[in-house]
Amino acid sequence: MHYTFALAGNQNSGKTTLFNQLTGSNQHVGNWPGVTVEQKTGTMLHHHHGKQTHLGLPVWRRSGHGVLRKETDLKETRVPEKYSDVTIVDLPGIYSLSPYSMEEIISRNYIVKTKPDLVINIVDATNLERNLYLTLQLLQLGRPVVVALNMMDEVRSHGDVIDLKAMEKALGVPVVAISARKGEGLDELVRRSMDVAEHRQLPGKLDICRGEAHKALHAVAHLVERNAMARDITPLYAATKLFEGDEPMIAELDLSEETRHIIEEILSSMEKEQGMERAAVMADTRYRFIEEMLTACVIRNPEGPDKLSDRIDGVLTHRVLAIPVFLVMMLLVFYITFGPFGSMVVDWFSGLVDGGIQVMGNALERWGVALWVRELVVKGVFTGVGSVLGFMPTILILFLLLSVLEDSGYMARAAFLMDRPLRKLGLNGRSFIPMMMGFGCSVPAIMSARSMSTQRDRRFTIMLTPFMSCGAKVPIYALFTAAFFPDHPVTVMTALYLMGILMSIAAGLLLKRYVFHGDASPFIMELPSYRLPTPRNVGRQIWEKAKDFIRRAFTVIFLATLVVWFLQSFTFNLTAAQSIGESMLGSIAGFLAPVFAPAGFGNVQASTAVLTGIMAKESVVSTLAVLSGAEVDSVEMLANLRSIFPSTLSAISFLLFVLLYMPCIAAFAAMRREMGSLRWAFWTVAGQTALAWVVATVVYQGGLLLGIG
Ligand code: GDP
Ligand code: MG
Repeated sequence: MHYTFALAGNQNSGKTTLFNQLTGSNQHVGNWPGVTVEQKTGTMLHHHHGKQTHLGLPVWRRSGHGVLRKETDLKETRVPEKYSDVTIVDLPGIYSLSPYSMEEIISRNYIVKTKPDLVINIVDATNLERNLYLTLQLLQLGRPVVVALNMMDEVRSHGDVIDLKAMEKALGVPVVAISARKGEGLDELVRRSMDVAEHRQLPGKLDICRGEAHKALHAVAHLVERNAMARDITPLYAATKLFEGDEPMIAELDLSEETRHIIEEILSSMEKEQGMERAAVMADTRYRFIEEMLTACVIRNPEGPDKLSDRIDGVLTHRVLAIPVFLVMMLLVFYITFGPFGSMVVDWFSGLVDGGIQVMGNALERWGVALWVRELVVKGVFTGVGSVLGFMPTILILFLLLSVLEDSGYMARAAFLMDRPLRKLGLNGRSFIPMMMGFGCSVPAIMSARSMSTQRDRRFTIMLTPFMSCGAKVPIYALFTAAFFPDHPVTVMTALYLMGILMSIAAGLLLKRYVFHGDASPFIMELPSYRLPTPRNVGRQIWEKAKDFIRRAFTVIFLATLVVWFLQSFTFNLTAAQSIGESMLGSIAGFLAPVFAPAGFGNVQASTAVLTGIMAKESVVSTLAVLSGAEVDSVEMLANLRSIFPSTLSAISFLLFVLLYMPCIAAFAAMRREMGSLRWAFWTVAGQTALAWVVATVVYQGGLLLGIG
């Protein structure tokens, strides 16, 4: 049999962690809400079907005297092999099934329309009150559900106790304690999920309403019964949605004028009775039910949970200290990445890469390979790819540090910190997340803007995201720093990143004034608790980044290098070009060069680099490496770079241009998709490129006037 299990739960409840555990994938897990914005699908690993392993989590039972007793009851069951085919779907985090944001719509549609065989509802057990709100709604859907109480390791260390059996009884579905992060309880979760899926076990009738609300709900359910059943919707769920004034449901049920009228009567008389709006009645009822249930099922450690998180927040989100602390953290990140430590690692690593290329070249010579092939392979390809690969450690160190900050929960605080300043730009704290991700890669960053609630906020954020220098630009900056500012790497790097941020502020102010009027929507985000970053999580992210980088080096950048080498080596008649001016490249890029002349880099090499940079930013480096015709030896490459950029001023101008001009093709495609408009995406990149040109030209001409360069 083939089954589909969907993971649904609040943001930051551990869905992706569980998904990765169950499927062995490496999806991005981040300790802030809104990381997963797309639904991801994977196949469940076989080893989760096998024999039960040690659970590690005690099951608590109420004994006769009302005291909780610990039992480690483990039934040794084998799950038969016939269950070998399970697809797991990781949905974006949601707080309710009412469509407020795009994620909620995606998740709700998936659960309601696609109908997975089972919904595994992941609940953050350290935050039951809020998490169970969604659980109740899922149960009302009347689809098979298993509740997975996640983060039980934290519950345990707080000294709290949860009575699983009682909770199961109250909710009418299986409740399994797990720790997705530690991999505990997963076998039990899978076993019981299989059980439910196989027997198509539906949740028991859950009556959470009392009194008037109860009467009204059932009356409405009765009224819509026929229409609901015809559309395969449980009447009670339909009634709940009508209570909440849910537009899509009203439209879908397609009730007669008369029925709608009667429902309106029932609801408004109930509103009068309860002294509350209908939606509030529903919410109130749910929270009351949850409260009652928790009083019966949870015993909190009277010593209270660890207040460490609060103490840390006392400093990190302090009224005065917060911003300085944030700046110091960022500076530290830069210092470690680009300072003595970072450059030591880079030197060591590029030595390794260069050595490899030399060995390759010698081998080719020994094998008597033709000179032109050797030239192509060693100079053309390996120099290009190698020049980029050498900078991989820098990117990885930067990522390591950022992902530690992210995984610890600090970045979510920073988003709050940035809400006020971002508001001045007409954005809100939510925009901080895509922007922070933009330092990694613009593509996921642009996608993560989905978590913003209005299209205005989304488009606005997307337009500013590329100003955050992505990881692929690091090799460019590093190369130029080594060539032109060998004594001040940290300063120059920090300045470049700052420049990007400053330009985004300038662009933001302009956009707010002329394009996006008004203010951003309010910013609501829950703060995740601080967590020690797990080596596994951080390691996984670094590994993904490294793999991605290497893959790009040997595909896009390899290809770009080949093309550039070919175009510069031959004329249009396919005879060997004597000089670059004579080559195909010279003729093509020759058209572009004059455009860049006012900015100080109006030559074929720099223009070509700008062009290939559109494919992938790293290509700027590989192109310059190939065109400077350098030996693998980096000293010579740096010298040749100085001949392409005769003055430091022209190098600065080029760096600024590269920092600001249009993002790569992949990012452009993401923009188009997420902005939902080719026109918007086009004008965004056109604007960025124009801005880049203006800034580069102003800086260059200004510098000349001042006599620098
Ligand atoms: P999602 O937003 O629901 O996909 O949640 P993630 O899987 O991205 O996890 C959010 C945060 O919770 C990450 O920092 C995880 O490392 C952490 N986390 C997930 N599961 C557990 C768990 O069982 N125990 C603890 N202590 N932390 C967890
Ligand atoms: Mg996630």
